Amino acid sequence: MNEIKYNLSRLRGKIIAIDGPAGTGKSTTATLVAARLGYTYLDTGAMYRALTYYALKHDVSPSDSVALGKLAAKLPITFKNKGDINRVFIAGHEVTEEIRTPEVTREVSEVSAHKGVRDAMVRQQMEMGKEGSIVAEGRDTTTVVFTHADLKIYLDASVEERARRRLIDLTRMGVATNLEELKKEIQRRDDFDSGRKHSPLTRAPGVIVLDTTELTIEDQVSQIVSLAMDRFR
Ligand code: C5P
Repeated sequence: MNEIKYNLSRLRGKIIAIDGPAGTGKSTTATLVAARLGYTYLDTGAMYRALTYYALKHDVSPSDSVALGKLAAKLPITFKNKGDINRVFIAGHEVTEEIRTPEVTREVSEVSAHKGVRDAMVRQQMEMGKEGSIVAEGRDTTTVVFTHADLKIYLDASVEERARRRLIDLTRMGVATNLEELKKEIQRRDDFDSGRKHSPLTRAPGVIVLDTTELTIEDQVSQIVSLAMDRFR
């Protein structure tokens, strides 16, 4: 009993950061790791998606760096985590599903490449994570936002497998698409996110790389929880 208490108190306040390209299961994995450890889940991609959704809705062009930077600094994006459900809100209005449409997915990489946008988002993410006990996930959580994270993970998988997973998700959401189209979309987003000037997706020094091509979500979750338990002992 004492030993369990001791270990649990050691878990408190720690930061786990997970980066990787689209379709590696980052969101599901981070959600479940957070639920298992009693941490908060921070989906940084959802923040860029919420901004993109709002900009498209209000006719702000994805190329307008000045307007987007200003918008990013004042848009009140909040989350409600409960178990494995992560709801997203803009000014109290729920946008959980709206931010996952193919239209938002198509434009989000351009929106998130602007320096003003990144600076504003990173500031908010640092604030959200300042108490620790958090699992953050995105493209720059290990390299920029939480460089001091206690555990840094990079999830990867083949493009084929990532497209296959996306197809299952989108079919479930009722979106008509096909594997070839998704492979192209994923490759395009990978190239954009890894090739951009500000905070490109890259592997941080000391990051632990997990290739998830052959792993189930449960494998990914238990590997990360074990790494956390070992490291935070
Ligand atoms: O993770 P998700 O696919 O929802 O992220 C959507 C997009 O948001 C990414 O393709 C990337 O362009 C951007 N993003 C980012 N930095 C993050 C998280 C997401 O630039 N930390």
